[in-house]
Amino acid sequence: MRGCRLCLDAGYDIVPGAVFAGDTTARVMLIGQAPGITEQQVKRPFNGTSGTRLFQWLAEAGWEEDDFRERHYMTAVTKCYPGRHKSGKGDRVPTKAEQKLCRPYLTQELNLVNPRVLLLVGGLSIKQFYPAKTKLRDVIGSAQFFSAEHAENRLNFSLEGSEKVWAVQDEVGCYIVPLPHPSGASLWTNSAENKTLIRHALALLSDLRTTYSL
Ligand code: SF4
Repeated sequence: MRGCRLCLDAGYDIVPGAVFAGDTTARVMLIGQAPGITEQQVKRPFNGTSGTRLFQWLAEAGWEEDDFRERHYMTAVTKCYPGRHKSGKGDRVPTKAEQKLCRPYLTQELNLVNPRVLLLVGGLSIKQFYPAKTKLRDVIGSAQFFSAEHAENRLNFSLEGSEKVWAVQDEVGCYIVPLPHPSGASLWTNSAENKTLIRHALALLSDLRTTYSL
């Protein structure tokens, strides 16, 4: 992945140098949208201001940042810095074509790590698994639960056979948990109602962390 130039070769003005961290023993895999410039410079996922907020959230779920980084896997839908948005506000959202070019890497990562909990951070990441019309408000605070019988489906970006849940299940299984993007550019996280949904998501993550010793 670090040597990949597929998007550059296809004419996209990205900064090559895939950003990801962790190893295949991780039991939590976090998928963000794409790295920002500070992440690209130091080759560390969620290193900038988005990371500060993300790790404040994860601290509420009981994960200390260094411990989370050491034990879990962090990657993104596209792994190279996509550059600034033309408007000058924030970074460019990777196109569908770039997402498609990077998808085989994400597939391999999922299959290698095979996580117990898949944490989707931001709309772009969520929509790799959930239907395209999914609204954050419909999913934040819940999880998709996969029993052992259907666990493989999440490795193929499919929710088939999974069940929408709001708490850890009695049966052992795997979970997809969505979170909004922690970027300050996202206004979604500002409303009181949405903050409540985020708190539900973090409480669910906290229960998953303790139940499975994550
Ligand atoms: S974003 Fe993915 S597919 Fe595109 S150049 Fe980087 S690693 Fe390759």
